[in-house]
Amino acid sequence: MSMTPSRRTIEAMTLGGMATDNRTIIVKCGSCRRTRIFLTADLVKVYGESQSPHTLFRDCSICGRPTRKGFGFPNRGDRICRPSVKKVWKWHEEAYEPVRSGPDLDKPDS
Ligand SMILES: [Zn+2]
Repeated sequence: MSMTPSRRTIEAMTLGGMATDNRTIIVKCGSCRRTRIFLTADLVKVYGESQSPHTLFRDCSICGRPTRKGFGFPNRGDRICRPSVKKVWKWHEEAYEPVRSGPDLDKPDS
């Protein structure tokens, strides 16, 4: 059974439709041979349901060469690329205002 459906089928698919079938996207680089497997359910969270899988991961993240995509289903023990949320602190400038925690704060001690 071929892993890769026709180009027309790929274009008609959305991540949301594939995620209901719990499908995976298998991204293979023909140059450096790197293979990554993604769960479409994960990709929906990142890219949205209406995103076409066709437009994702066009280039290899290591060597930058075009990738080939296939579709499948996850098997127990498969090595899957899962998304990780990185907490990023952002800094901005603003005018300093002393914090007033109570009306008695500025009174000298008696
Ligand atoms: Zn590559």
